[in-house]
Amino acid sequence: MKDWIAAIHAYVPGKSKSADGKPLVKLSANENPLGTSPAAMAARARVSDSATYPDPDSVALRTALGELHGIDPARIVCGTGSDELLNLAAQAFAGPGDEVAYVRFGFSVYDIAARRCGATPVVAPDRDFGTDVDALLACVTQRTRVVFLANPNNPTGTFLPRAELARLHAGLPADVLLVVDRAYAEYVAPDDDDGALALAANHANVLVTHTFSKIYGLAGERIGWGTGAPHLVDALNRIRGPFNLTTTAQAAAEAALADQAFVRASRAHNFSERARFVEVIESLGNHGLRAVPSEANFVLVLFEGALSAETALNAIGEAGYAVRHLPGQGLPQALRITIGTREQMDAIAQVLRNLTEGTR
Ligand code: PMP
Repeated sequence: MKDWIAAIHAYVPGKSKSADGKPLVKLSANENPLGTSPAAMAARARVSDSATYPDPDSVALRTALGELHGIDPARIVCGTGSDELLNLAAQAFAGPGDEVAYVRFGFSVYDIAARRCGATPVVAPDRDFGTDVDALLACVTQRTRVVFLANPNNPTGTFLPRAELARLHAGLPADVLLVVDRAYAEYVAPDDDDGALALAANHANVLVTHTFSKIYGLAGERIGWGTGAPHLVDALNRIRGPFNLTTTAQAAAEAALADQAFVRASRAHNFSERARFVEVIESLGNHGLRAVPSEANFVLVLFEGALSAETALNAIGEAGYAVRHLPGQGLPQALRITIGTREQMDAIAQVLRNLTEGTR
């Protein structure tokens, strides 16, 4: 094994079973609690040929994406999940001796993406769990090749507004690639558009990635897409898997895209349940609980009083739910909780209320 591969800590996915093997309701992977668009499931079921390789260029899907977002399909590249695109972007533009920068509490795949190609990850300090543009720019050196930014960010849910993103881009040298990872962009209030797609349309050094794993409810099919200048798309096309999207994935994604009513319902559900859950956390503020402001489909809850995140994690687990504890990412006193159904959120709220009553 190469030294730089040996230095990688493998990605740890969210749990779906308790320590004694019982299945848990998964509020640990930011999946869509409404499931998948029925139209997408039907399109997937209609695929009748798996003997033939899929379309290597996902033409129909890229065309549909282009129409929906007003982008030339030639400027779109699809990936086996957006994870593949993040990894390819690092691989195409960074190597041994180069640096890849991102903010503390950034998405954990950025570290792996940097290291797997021999580059050095450089982590900028955060500001209130979000992006500090000045601190990130201060980390950029002559060796920096790629800057990753998730907007909204996972695991914190924080959102970098349009003007700040523009300031970050303006502060970067033209030969540094800015990757804006918009896995949760569809959950952001429409008035809060971060302007990333406009940056990608107008500048040669901005790649924007999206996923079908979150609001489109297709995490199991592994579909992501990215857009940027032709030379960026060309670089990723050279090194991606030649048949990286399965036939069923392409069919399901295309149908999911056409069902924007499902997307709107998912957004509305998330918006109201997230607000209701944040209210619960705020009502427990006198016990040291605090919700980091989130524009995503999860909330990072901080435990700053007598009740520890670990105690809460265990009690939530006993109630039958998996949520995300990320001590390895520097968040020992926090839990990232995916917004589930109304009943699921009520159950989590009840566990937290019971626990805080116990510590009064
Ligand atoms: N970016 C962010 C910020 C994420 O949270 C995730 C999913 N955890 C991804 C990218 C990757 O998603 P996928 O590979 O399923 O498209």
